[in-house]
Amino acid sequence: MKKKGNIMVNKELLDILACPQCKGGIKMVAEGLVCEACRLVYPIEDNIPVMLVEEARPVESMAEEE
Ligand SMILES: [Zn+2]
Repeated sequence: MKKKGNIMVNKELLDILACPQCKGGIKMVAEGLVCEACRLVYPIEDNIPVMLVEEARPVESMAEEE
């Protein structure tokens, strides 16, 4: 069973992940993983964080949705 929005990225993985652009730390939110320094959101697909700058969306676009 798959629940929408149920992101299963564990904390240890989160600790080793870093923003590919600034190499800074990232934070998990409902939409994905956020780099607050770059204001980018990296998506999570099938529980795998997509740490690619070209796949990231600006944080601003989240607030504008709906
Ligand atoms: Zn960054």
